[in-house]
Amino acid sequence: MKTKTILSTSLSFFITAQAWGHDDHIHTSENVQATTNIFEKDHTTNNVEKTKLLDSGYRLLHEEQIFVKLESDRLNSIPKKTKQSEPKTAVPFRVFEDKLELEWDNEFLYVGSNGMPDHQMMVGITAWQQQVPLPQQYFGSNAWQIPLKPTPSPNPMSAKAHFFRGAIALAANGVPIFNPIKNNGRTDTLLAGELDKWGGHCGRGDDYHYHVAPIHLEDRIGRGKPIAYALDGYPIYGYFEPDGSLAKGLDWLNGHKDSFGNYHYHATKDYPYINGGFYGKVVEKDGQVDPQPRAQAVRPSLPGLKGARITGFESADSKNFKVSYEVFGKKKEVNYQIGEEGAVTFNFVDSAGTKTETYEPKKSVGGPRLESKKEKGMQANKKPSGRGKGPREGEARKPWIVAHAKELDINGDGVVSTKEVNAEVDNAFTGFDQNNDGFLSDNETQSRGAGPKSPMGGFIKGHASEFDRDGDGLISKNEASLLFLRFVRQVDQNNDGELSKKELVEAESRPKGDKKKEKKDGKGKGKKEPKKTNKKNK
Ligand SMILES: [Zn+2]
Ligand SMILES: [Zn+2]
Repeated sequence: MKTKTILSTSLSFFITAQAWGHDDHIHTSENVQATTNIFEKDHTTNNVEKTKLLDSGYRLLHEEQIFVKLESDRLNSIPKKTKQSEPKTAVPFRVFEDKLELEWDNEFLYVGSNGMPDHQMMVGITAWQQQVPLPQQYFGSNAWQIPLKPTPSPNPMSAKAHFFRGAIALAANGVPIFNPIKNNGRTDTLLAGELDKWGGHCGRGDDYHYHVAPIHLEDRIGRGKPIAYALDGYPIYGYFEPDGSLAKGLDWLNGHKDSFGNYHYHATKDYPYINGGFYGKVVEKDGQVDPQPRAQAVRPSLPGLKGARITGFESADSKNFKVSYEVFGKKKEVNYQIGEEGAVTFNFVDSAGTKTETYEPKKSVGGPRLESKKEKGMQANKKPSGRGKGPREGEARKPWIVAHAKELDINGDGVVSTKEVNAEVDNAFTGFDQNNDGFLSDNETQSRGAGPKSPMGGFIKGHASEFDRDGDGLISKNEASLLFLRFVRQVDQNNDGELSKKELVEAESRPKGDKKKEKKDGKGKGKKEPKKTNKKNK
């Protein structure tokens, strides 16, 4: 059997044959959006897809994943040009080149990174989710990509209402920068004490990232130079301009144009701290800039730990780490080692003794950047043997979100996450939005048989008027998402943006208070992607 590498729909890849160097030749500027392509390592099959890719003029190649052979006659037909010089976007990253992999083509700078900074981490955190820094695989097809030719967007998007997931910028040291507002849409991570002295902490995949501008990088880069790039391709400077003066006249996105008319962002000490959204064009998908690398979790994520304060962080080398902390004054530590093959052993030490947990790295199919559907499929078979009854369908006294937790818990881990709620909003939209304009009109939600037969579909149908917050007669995806995420927040006791089993169980037994009763709303299973029925009137 040959090794197959399967790439899925959302994975866009860029073909740039080694032999072509970084020539600026036939690129047609479109990334190749491949639809479930299968390449085989012996380069013989799937010639149609291959040709399509080559015709688009790109190559990528993460050697272990895809390999496309170029026939020599094809090569000869490609105009040879001089090697493209290094883009200026690469300059700040060069300062950290010893730990980064920098590549570029006509469109993007690719920054390969393990996401671990050189500086200490974690110390100073007073609101801790018990996650720790682990190196990530932001390399190859999972590298960061910064547009080299940023384009102003006709409708700049605000990070106050968008991009609560994933990174919105990349620091010069290869550490991602996330929205300073957490994925619950309201917690300011800095003000909440979640960040260490360097403006970072770890996500649910034990992935370290900043949430505010890493001004301290100026110690290495120099003042008045970019310390990061927003994912729309515009640079982010510190508090100062290249001429040494303090930045002023910033717009709502924390940016402005220089005297040459070039736009850039600045860091600020108060919100938005970094780019407050995107002046330039980006694609938002599932609440994050798309595409972007994925972090890989080795263990299930943990809940917030009340009373914790991180006091120390040591890394003996790149494989051995220790986080020291106190919980209500009691000293504890977690030390962890990365073993052969990437297994991670955690030792949780306190006065009672040591508890050890070891996690094998998750195997991924087709490279680190997985399509969400595939991920769902992968995780579906490790459903925990949950205890307690799941919520029953359509029960009136429970909050809607609790009654439908099971359907919303797409990956079956017992937790309802913001991501899952937004994915279901996407599904419902697909089912309703006949004309595909991204908005739901009265006609689309209220006509007979309209919409998906899922609980969320039923809810949208029954409560359409409550969604339309701006009163324009249409429901936007954002409006729908906001309402369902509000449901999450009503039950989300520790404000981490997701509903744990405990929170769901507790909400079930809690009296519902003064909230009005929901009506019964449809009884579909909710998990199936609603088929789009595209009946258009002529
Ligand atoms: Zn974070
Ligand atoms: Zn400026």
